[in-house]
Amino acid sequence: MTNTLYDALFARHAENDATFLTLDDGTRVSYRSFVRRIGQLARVLADAGVNPGDRIVVQAPKIMDTIALYGAAVQTGAVYLPLNTAYTQSEVAYFITDAAPRMVVCDAENAAAVSTICSADTQVLTLAKDGTGSLSTAANTCEGTFATVPRGPDDLAALLYTSGTTGRSKGAMMSHKNLLSNAQTLTDLWRITSEDRLIHALPIFHTHGLFVALNTALLAGAQVRFMAGFDIDAIIGELPTSTLLMGVPTFYTRLLADRRLTRDLVAKMRLFISGSAPLLAETHTAFENRTGHRILERYGMTETNMITSNPYDGARLAGTVGYALPGTEVEITNDGQPVGPGEIGMIEVRGDNVFQGYWNMPDKTAEELRKNGFFITGDLGVKSDDGRITIVGRQKDLIISGGYNIYPKEIEDVLNDIDGVVESAVFGVAHPDFGETVLAAIVLDDPTLTVEDIAAAATPQLARFKHPKRYIITDALPRNTMGKVQKNILRETYRELGT
Ligand code: ATP
Ligand code: MG
Repeated sequence: MTNTLYDALFARHAENDATFLTLDDGTRVSYRSFVRRIGQLARVLADAGVNPGDRIVVQAPKIMDTIALYGAAVQTGAVYLPLNTAYTQSEVAYFITDAAPRMVVCDAENAAAVSTICSADTQVLTLAKDGTGSLSTAANTCEGTFATVPRGPDDLAALLYTSGTTGRSKGAMMSHKNLLSNAQTLTDLWRITSEDRLIHALPIFHTHGLFVALNTALLAGAQVRFMAGFDIDAIIGELPTSTLLMGVPTFYTRLLADRRLTRDLVAKMRLFISGSAPLLAETHTAFENRTGHRILERYGMTETNMITSNPYDGARLAGTVGYALPGTEVEITNDGQPVGPGEIGMIEVRGDNVFQGYWNMPDKTAEELRKNGFFITGDLGVKSDDGRITIVGRQKDLIISGGYNIYPKEIEDVLNDIDGVVESAVFGVAHPDFGETVLAAIVLDDPTLTVEDIAAAATPQLARFKHPKRYIITDALPRNTMGKVQKNILRETYRELGT
């Protein structure tokens, strides 16, 4: 009997004595012992009455057992549902009510509160940062072998909630095939092998750190330097003996801000990958000048896994997210009809990577997932003649002022080019006559730069209707844990400035 994802990612390593994880304290975990741990945890799940298709909510620290729990959920045929560790109790309550899990694994501190939200037949187990808790206590006495529950390509393996950048998080139903096909494509494209050593400093509750990073490493049998979080000293220390880094753009700006980042330091590195939020062209260029490496930018989302990537061989162009992945179709549309090269439109995507629909949201699924299989991403983009995609922004961030469409990124690019401007976020707020008006939040590294200087530098480059009505100098842009700028917070905070 087979289990599509389990067999490909985990079972194959049952006899593999190579190192899988190296932890912060130097402990090495072999593939063999990792798979054994999965077996012990799977036993706990099965004994607790977890049935195929049941959801397991996991709000747990970034430790080995948390990813072994992912393996255990897959092995028992359950649906793994990781939650951002920053979510508060009322946020967690929404996910638990929405997903109706059979089991919740959380910190001991939250266990009592979580129990009150759960239905009577939900088990609540605990897992702490040091690995202790009722889950591990139960697992420690179990056998490390478990008869894998058969699951096919179309069965669900995970319910992954979106980041909630544009509204309430939605649960994306991911099948075994969705996850495996994307992992296979990325492993091939990025040439990941058992010779690689990946620096893993991303959270493991999001598609980037969980699926892009770990599924590819598992598939290839690569080594993973598993870090509890982003720690600049630790990363600098690991770069000389590693080959691969997957990060969000802020990883790269933080590395660039450190003088220890040199060409020599990264001489052994093979590939730097960036995603989850736009990488500024300046960052790409500065990184190349300093290290000789061209960061490979890719684009994806919770609902689709990865969609496009810059090429491994061939030009990695700053500011673009590359070509549709093999096996994935990307179309740019206007009112559902494909538009030509150079024209801005909605990015739509179809392929084995595209999810099965939103959990408990049949209407939303019907709105965004076409019958012909294309998913309407909500991101606007443009395709070049040779098929390269450039993201222009989210449709929800598009500003419509006086009947004109204004793409914030175009204005942000102009502002970011001004000496003394570190970064900017352009957004719209309601205006009684124009519908919306343009505001710009700006972070400076030259405190002498004034709003007048900025306006004087920017306005000659932009048509009048695109001129920001107000410039707001701020210390930092609001970002979520994945480094995404939260324009909804900016819109709300500066709502009054529109009128
Ligand atoms: P929600 O859907 O709940 O509003 P979210 O879309 O931020 O949240 P994710 O699925 O984590 O949740 O993020 C996917 C989005 O991240 C994409 O739709 C896109 O807007 C953005 N993104 C990902 N990679 C890139 C990239 N390389 N460049 C620009 N944007 C990117
Ligand atoms: Mg989204």
